[in-house]
Amino acid sequence: MTETAVPPSERTRVRRVAENASYDSATLYAIVDDAYLCHIAFSDDKGSHCIPTACWREGDHLYIHGSNGSRMLKRLTESEVCVTITHLDGLVMARSAFNHSMNYRSAMIYGSFEKVLDEAAKRSTMEAFMEKLAAGRQAQVRPGNDKEYNATTVMRIALAEAACKVRSGPAVDDAEDMDWPVWAGVLPFARARLAPQTDAACSLPAPDYVLGWQDGSGKAA
Ligand SMILES: Cc1cc2nc3c(=O)[nH]c(=O)nc-3n(C[C@H](O)[C@H](O)[C@H](O)COP(=O)(O)OP(=O)(O)OC[C@H]3O[C@@H](n4cnc5c(N)ncnc54)[C@H](O)[C@@H]3O)c2cc1C
Repeated sequence: MTETAVPPSERTRVRRVAENASYDSATLYAIVDDAYLCHIAFSDDKGSHCIPTACWREGDHLYIHGSNGSRMLKRLTESEVCVTITHLDGLVMARSAFNHSMNYRSAMIYGSFEKVLDEAAKRSTMEAFMEKLAAGRQAQVRPGNDKEYNATTVMRIALAEAACKVRSGPAVDDAEDMDWPVWAGVLPFARARLAPQTDAACSLPAPDYVLGWQDGSGKAA
């Protein structure tokens, strides 16, 4: 377990395979920053829901946005939530069937969302979202107008009550299985950046974040 920056709460203290737990903000921020989406679990009078949506981080908050008409965004002001993010890094092939595992980085964040009501803060965090998607693009696009901003709700949740769980490394087999005649190891995953696909109606030169997309130098998260 990494150094504990924030002591876990009763509901964030990992009990199962607790040695893979982490509660420090550096681990949490790295998991959030590597994500384009999160899943938000909440309940209403129709039951429990878990909805995927785009997310980004600014400081010690996770942000989401959507239409004012979104059922989810309306409910989030009334409901306690749990936000999850998971990155799958590999399939762990052990010698015995029941010792197979997965390498991953996951985070669970608990609390309540609040609307970002300050207009300047709302606009600047939407720009931060664009910056995360493609560094430098905000300055090139037609900016959002008042009508678009007025139709959009931006919400944030503090990255305060959270748990991370990270598994990495090889399979862990029992000593008596080590001679079993089967391949063992990790089948790793990585998110692949493919070649950009220029819009058929676009004849403009590609900016840096497009040219650098595939090799990762384009700075997008
Ligand atoms: C890609 C992937 C595949 C998995 N496959 C399996 C599987 O097949 N079977 C299985 O039993 N488990 C699997 N897990 C682990 C699973 O997420 C839980 O950690 C585990 O099931 C224990 O759940 P629990 O409620 O008993 O844990 P507890 O330790 O009792 O949970 C206590 C608290 O710890 C925190 N916590 C628990 N799990 C996580 C997590 N993954 N990330 C961040 N915080 C967490 C939460 O705040 C939770 O309330 C997988 C995880 C990942 C990311």
